[in-house]
Amino acid sequence: MSLATPHDSLATTQPVLRPRAVERLVSGQATSDGAGVKLTRVLTNDLQRRLDPFLMLDAFGSDKADDYIAGFPDHPHRGFETVTYMLEGRMRHRDSAGNEGLLGNGGVQWMTAGRGVIHSELPEQEDGRMEGFQLWLNLPAKDKLCPPWYRDIPSAQIPEFERQGVTVRVIAGSSHGVAGAMQREATAPLYLDLHLAPGAQFEQVLPEGHNAFVYVYRGSLKLEGGCTVPQQRMAIFANTPGSDGVRLQAGEAPTRAILIAGRPLKEPIAQYGPFVMNTREELMQAVHDFQNGQLA
Ligand code: FE
Repeated sequence: MSLATPHDSLATTQPVLRPRAVERLVSGQATSDGAGVKLTRVLTNDLQRRLDPFLMLDAFGSDKADDYIAGFPDHPHRGFETVTYMLEGRMRHRDSAGNEGLLGNGGVQWMTAGRGVIHSELPEQEDGRMEGFQLWLNLPAKDKLCPPWYRDIPSAQIPEFERQGVTVRVIAGSSHGVAGAMQREATAPLYLDLHLAPGAQFEQVLPEGHNAFVYVYRGSLKLEGGCTVPQQRMAIFANTPGSDGVRLQAGEAPTRAILIAGRPLKEPIAQYGPFVMNTREELMQAVHDFQNGQLA
């Protein structure tokens, strides 16, 4: 028995010894969606294969009501999950499965569209700041037509811990032995919101085959190899062979970032707007079902 063998029971708190390199930085694209909500599409279509199982990440943040007030009126989804994390603001959700909820400061809404949902996401404020993220997480082929599912997770129900100047909110997966609010078997998503004091360091164990990225929304981060990630930039981590995780360090200002990782599905991705399936035929079926009122 070797002393160097890590104990399985300590796997979640083991130090990162061989951190991943950074593959590239991404700025995202300014766009608008819904009825005219201004946002930055950070994870764009061309990165879907690279960042499998993640299909999209939108960042929104504005003090101007005109940028968000129109919201996202009724629209369909099929074949994946949407994860909305509201940093600040109030958004009401209603869907065809009969669910309704108010997403508020620091809360998360996790919606599994499965075989189909028609929903609206509308601001419940006329002024002030609205800021947050919407992530699209793919479903494996076998689950794409599962019954729709939905959960509102108020801020107080998101597990949180502090460690050496870093507050960690564990939305999904687990970090340093703390299980997050959500777990998903097929894609094993990790979703952390990190609040770092100036200069504070954080490390996270990650299987090398899982795709991972970090998005900085305040301050800046220094990553392995001296790479600096400024505000409003995403860094894609390389799947460095033999690596065991990622290491981050805040710059000179208080820093906030989301760290996201997951197990790739390695299945064909076919997307037509709000439908994400595996084949063109399945997309045509989705459009047909929607047009005939049979999607949801
Ligand atoms: Fe939607």
